[in-house]
Amino acid sequence: MNFASRMSRVTVSPTLRVAADAERLRRQGVDVVDLGAGEPDFGTPEHVKDAAHAALNANFTKYTPSAGVLELRDAVCQRYQADYGVQIKPEEVIITAGAKQALYNAAMTLFGAGDEVITHAPYWPTIVDQIKLADATPVIVHTHMEDGFAIKADAIIDAITPKTKAIIINSPCNPTGALITEADMIAIADAAAARGLWVIADTTYEKLIYDVASHNVIGILFERMRDRTIICSAASKAYAMTGWRCGWAIGPKEAIAQANVLQGHSTSNINSITQKAGIAALSGPQESVTMMLNEYRKRRDAVHGWLTADPRFVCVKPGGAFYLFPYVADLLSPNGLKNTGELAEALLKDVAVAVTPGEGFDAPGYFRLSYATSIERLKEGVDRIQAFVQKLESSGKLTAAR
Ligand code: PMP
Repeated sequence: MNFASRMSRVTVSPTLRVAADAERLRRQGVDVVDLGAGEPDFGTPEHVKDAAHAALNANFTKYTPSAGVLELRDAVCQRYQADYGVQIKPEEVIITAGAKQALYNAAMTLFGAGDEVITHAPYWPTIVDQIKLADATPVIVHTHMEDGFAIKADAIIDAITPKTKAIIINSPCNPTGALITEADMIAIADAAAARGLWVIADTTYEKLIYDVASHNVIGILFERMRDRTIICSAASKAYAMTGWRCGWAIGPKEAIAQANVLQGHSTSNINSITQKAGIAALSGPQESVTMMLNEYRKRRDAVHGWLTADPRFVCVKPGGAFYLFPYVADLLSPNGLKNTGELAEALLKDVAVAVTPGEGFDAPGYFRLSYATSIERLKEGVDRIQAFVQKLESSGKLTAAR
């Protein structure tokens, strides 16, 4: 069949593919431990659901302005002022179907053929595929497990060429959980400002930071280069609202107006009821965020401990998001499982554990394990992974452990 050429540049999201495979097995009645999902296992907070019920009962079911209702854009402004001390006006905010559409709007309105866009790997694949969909060329700067996948300003700046249009920073990062330091963010901002480049910060996991760390990405970018900064984030992870599709982009009002033109010709406003829920999430009590954060921290520590008890799982303890990203090259061999795609397939088939292979994140030899599931299921999942490794070992298809 004759599809548009842009479709040949992108592939199905590997994270969504794992979810689909796990779901297929579940439908067959298999008890799958799903460590592949990139979403909170918690329910959406009650007061947020109440706001949605109230919106429905009040027939708040019509079109809204394409950029979202003023009250929600205002709630975003208030939240960021309270959390990061930045002053934002509603015309500098567009409400989007998750952070994904915020990033997509930015890619489509800022990038074009001949542009290079720098980002860092291991990456969330959508970031790179959106650059390609916008006809631009991704330029990938690799980060390394040895230094906790730190996003180094020097490496990013070294990748700048006369064709560079923008730099995309994802912090906390999916899949590594790494946070950019403020010093690195400052250095990147100054380099970008001096060259007139855009910086797009994907801060979708901004509320999921476990250790004491100053991470005022928006404050830094606003102070140094506000006229070329786009912040993309969402209620999805912070408020356990992935299915509601409530995200936002914050940027100069001219850029937000462009995003609104694009959105006005594609999806228009996000779901009206979700918008009322989003207002409750951002303006209401924030205790549920802290409760979930504390629970994720416990899980991170527990799973990291269980997994790394076996030296074949080499794994940094990440500062944010809700993923572990172990290096498992010792489980791969030319006459056994050749890559983590095959490893993930075997784990799902043999012990019904879903993890996401590293190849899709541009990180062969790694896999991503989400700890956004209950501690009991996590324990069950790690037990099954360990049983699987033991079986692999006795089959003689393992290279020697370190
Ligand atoms: N950015 C990153 C780094 C993500 O991991 C995700 C979700 N997996 C998104 C953006 C998109 O989030 P949303 O569901 O709000 O569109």
